[in-house]
Amino acid sequence: MSELKYKRVLLKLSGESLMGSDPFGINRETIMQTVRQVKEVSDLGVEVAIVVGGGNIFRGVSAQAGSMDRATADYMGMLATVMNALALKEALESIGAKARVQSALSMQQIAETYARPKAIQYLEEGKIVIFAAGTGNPFFTTDTAAALRGAEMCCDVMLKATNVDGIYTADPKKDPSATRYQSVTFDEAIEKNLKVMDATAFTLCRERDMNIVVFGIQKQDALKNVVLGKDEGTLVHN
Ligand code: UDP
Repeated sequence: MSELKYKRVLLKLSGESLMGSDPFGINRETIMQTVRQVKEVSDLGVEVAIVVGGGNIFRGVSAQAGSMDRATADYMGMLATVMNALALKEALESIGAKARVQSALSMQQIAETYARPKAIQYLEEGKIVIFAAGTGNPFFTTDTAAALRGAEMCCDVMLKATNVDGIYTADPKKDPSATRYQSVTFDEAIEKNLKVMDATAFTLCRERDMNIVVFGIQKQDALKNVVLGKDEGTLVHN
């Protein structure tokens, strides 16, 4: 069997990555394609923690633009991530994987409240842990929650799943000559103004020396290729 490059990973799934080609919400075929990849790497022995976004349902910033109070809008955004987390858990269990949801906001009837020791225990038992409700605070993003939970869980790497299969020299949709970076340093990413994650998340990863791999989850076997250390996506490192 091939060597695993990473033993414990934090997978960041944006809400949009669950949408498929639908205008909003959760596309069943898309979520099933994603959870099959997650189960595959979990079966290889990789411990998987997931932070899921909520942009496919509700985004605080957009509601603020419509003149809504920002903190209230952000709490609504966090609730959207809980819906996605429950959908992911159900989808994972439907293919025989064991998964647990831990929420940063307590809602004990539907999910456990975040507890670090328990989450680590689940990971050690081979269960997939899905972190919902971001950091539990308004004015943050789920990218920052991913960096935070990744650091707390002592993950080897943060895997940021996007709709593009890595970081490119230019927007590949607009510029056909754009090429994918195999790897960039954190410093280069800043110098070249490459959009990896929001600044808070980026800084936390850099300070904790947690590398980031940006990759496209829509591509078959992409997640497996990343954990096996194959040339997939873009590695951001110190
Ligand atoms: N959010 C928040 N605090 C957090 C994480 C998320 O307030 O720690 C809210 C915020 O309104 C955000 C929404 O939840 O717009 C959905 O998260 P995000 O936009 O990060 O989701 P993604 O873009 O990954 O789908």
